[in-house]
Order: sequence, then structure tokens, then C-alpha cells
Amino acid sequence: MALKNGREYQQSIEDLALEAHVMGQAESHLTRHPLVRPSLAAVAVTYDGAHAEDAATRDLFRAHSPLCGEEVNRFTHLHRSTDDLVKKVKMQRYCGLATGCCFQRCVGMDAANAVFSTTYDCDAACGTDYHARFKTYWSGIQEKDLVVDGAMTDPKGDRGRRPKDQRDPDLFLRVVERRRDGVVVCGAKLHQTGMLNAHEMLVMPTMGMKAGEEDWAICFAVPTNTPGIRYIYGRQTSDTRKLETPALDAGNPRFGGQEVMTVFDRVFVPRERIFLDGELPYSGRLVERFAAYHRQSYGGCKVGVGDVLIGATALIARMNGVAQASHIKDKLVEMIHLNETLFASGIACSAMGHPTPAGNFEIDMLLANVCKLNVTRFPFELARLATDIAGGLLGTMPSAHDLEDPVAGPYIKKYLAAAEDTDPVDRIKVLRLIENLVAGSGAVAYLIESMHGAGPPMAQRIMIGRQGGLEEKMARVKRLLDVA
Ligand code: SF4
Repeated sequence: MALKNGREYQQSIEDLALEAHVMGQAESHLTRHPLVRPSLAAVAVTYDGAHAEDAATRDLFRAHSPLCGEEVNRFTHLHRSTDDLVKKVKMQRYCGLATGCCFQRCVGMDAANAVFSTTYDCDAACGTDYHARFKTYWSGIQEKDLVVDGAMTDPKGDRGRRPKDQRDPDLFLRVVERRRDGVVVCGAKLHQTGMLNAHEMLVMPTMGMKAGEEDWAICFAVPTNTPGIRYIYGRQTSDTRKLETPALDAGNPRFGGQEVMTVFDRVFVPRERIFLDGELPYSGRLVERFAAYHRQSYGGCKVGVGDVLIGATALIARMNGVAQASHIKDKLVEMIHLNETLFASGIACSAMGHPTPAGNFEIDMLLANVCKLNVTRFPFELARLATDIAGGLLGTMPSAHDLEDPVAGPYIKKYLAAAEDTDPVDRIKVLRLIENLVAGSGAVAYLIESMHGAGPPMAQRIMIGRQGGLEEKMARVKRLLDVA
């Protein structure tokens, strides 16, 4: 087995020949599509990191796996220690800083760690054989160094109704037919990050299922090019700027994220790829564990993107000639403080992790939820401060086409001049990057996803309420005060 590099990875995705509906067109050359290509390039960074020149970076991206007995890319690793959990967050910060966007590969890593421990628990209680199946499956993923999309979010239809009570039962993905050698499923998964850049998908229930909902308590894996699966590409703000040349107005000219609606139209799943089928209590446990791992992930990836926003904001302050103003310096310090607070909670939930009975390591659930709740707030404040410092030009700049115009171009360069030694075109580049993150296609991952990815704020508040130890705290106070 060899750890793939970014080029080999991109070729392997091209070989899958996936098809998708992209803005009204059925597209079959996705890896070359200008809307899709930046997202593929972002995932490639997760492969190139394992081949970085410096040993410290390689160490972040590589881990020894007892499962396949070899060195694997950490994005396929089952965490074996708190050190692994900490390195995961550092690796994600590295990728966020390198790309300035969502690099998409974390969902499968988080799903695998949750499925690994949940199948173990399920087998111990129910006498099933899911854990052995999953180990065989995941060992193959590690050996081939594949991208796996973790697919959880169902459309959910009427939120006031249970899956079995929906007018259309497919609004929650479910088993519609059982065969001796497997099952057939129908339904959809929304908001699928990086799905078209993945080789495989690991599908999980969207929530804890109750009696009568056994057909919805299904977890399985299939290759992304399985017959019956259809993809519909998600739009992002200002996404068509990626179709333009020159690329300046895109803001982040090389990288970007990807979200896809994935439809399962009678998809067959072979028995050996099923990891949960009707064992109700383990559907909720799986959701809780996956969510916690992904809430930890945000303490790395969003921090890396925050680093990009802070760097761009400091740069534009310098280009504008205001870097020495005390209120600018103070706002930059505030941005750093908020960003490092996110990182601190990502590291804290990792350092406070613990082994599961299955043998992999799990984060501290309470602190992972605190981490993600912070992520639902702080990037918005970082974006506000960046907008404040960048100035109104952020919303009024002429297009890159006018820069090239023989009449308009010289005026733009003359009147967008700022601090001495600042090239006006460089100034526009930095402003476009900030615009991308606070209001453009990058804001999908940096802001909307910070709010809703891995669950909205209320989901974290519920978990924090459950795990906050209020009874214990009250008992301690009673003891302190000698209260009955
Ligand atoms: Fe990874 Fe962050 Fe994208 Fe989730 S949002 S896949 S954690 S980069």
C-alpha cells in the first residue's frame, strides 16, 4: 500500500466517472468542471499533507493503523490515543489555513470512528456481527487511502412528525426491500459535503429511531458510483464567479467547498456492507458520537479558515495604511482571541478524550459540544470585525473585467491606490478573499456551516444541558453550605 498524493487522488476520482446535475445540466466530466474543480483541489491538500517536506507536517497527516498494520493517512485513522485526537485537530487547522475553505474529508473520518465503537457496543448487546464487518470494510479504505463521505442528514419533511408518520416515508432514508443478500434503500441525504470528491459513502441514520422505525435505523456503505444514486449540485453565493476568467473576482481562486443533494432511488446494499439494521438504541448512539467527533473537527478546520481571514484582514489594514491605528490593532487582537478560543476548545475536548470499549478514542462529549457552540458564534464576530476593518470597498469594487478595460482599468488602478508600495490589484485580491469568506461562496462553509454543520446551536445546548453535571454541582453547593 502507498499513501496517495494529491495528483493520484484526483486521478482516482476521475476514474470513478461520477455524474451529477449541475445548474440545470447533466455533467459527466466533474473533475474538470470549473464549479467542482476547486473543491477537488481542496481535498487533494489532505493527500499532499502526508507527503509534506517537513517531518512535523507529515507526522500530523500520518498514523500507524493496527487495523491494516500499516501507516495510513490520518483522515482514515481510528484514533488510538488523546495524542491522535489532538493531532487530528492540528491537521484540520493546517488544511483550513492551506485552503481557506472546507476540505471535505473529515466527515468520513468522524463517521468511521463513531461506527467503529457503536458496532462494537451493538454486537456486545445484541449478538450481531457488524463490528467485524466494519473492520474488514474500513481496513480496505485505509489500504486504498480513499475518501469516504459520511452521510447523515435526511430531508426530515415535517419536523413535527416522526419518520414513520411522514406523508412520504422516503423523507427519512429507509429500507424498502429485504433480500437474502442485502437490502434496498430509498431516500435522500442533504448537505453532503464533498460527496462528488469521495470514493465511498458511509450512510448513517439522521437521529435516534423508536419502536416501529426499524427500517429507518440503517447504517451502511456503498461506492459513490453505485447504480441508483443521483447527485444534484448545491449552489453557493456568487458561485458563478468561478466560471469567470480572470479568476480574481472568485476571491479564493484555487480552492472551494462542495455541497450536494444525494438521492437514493432503490439502491441495493450488499449484506457485508450493512453495519446497523433495526437495532434502535444504537441509531441514537451513533448519531451522538458522530456529531461529537464532528463538533471537535470544527475546532480545527474553522480555526484554520479563521487564520486566513485574520491574515487577510491584517494585510488589508496594512495596505489601507491604518495598521498602526490603535482601534485596528485592538480589533485584530479580538479576532485572534476569538479564533484561539475555538482552537482551545478543540484541543481541550481532544486532550480530555478517553478510550471506548472498542479500543478507539473518543473526545470529551461536553467539551466537544462547547467547542461547536462557540463555532456557531465566533466566526460571525470574526466576519463582522473583518468587514469593519476592510471598509466599504468590500461591497463596491469594480469587476476584474473592468480592470482589463483600456479606459476603466487605469482609473480603477489610479483611484484604488492606497498605502505606498501597495499594488491596487493586490489590494483588490485581498479584499476579494475577505468578501469570499464573509459574503461569498466561502461563507457557506465559514458562516452557514459553522451555524448548522454537525447540528444547529440548539443541538449543542441540549447536549451541554445533559452533560453539564447540574445535579452534582448542586449537591456540592449543598455540602459547602451544609444545606439539607
Ligand atoms: Fe472538515 Fe470542517 Fe469541512 Fe467538516 S466543515 S468536512 S470538519 S473542513
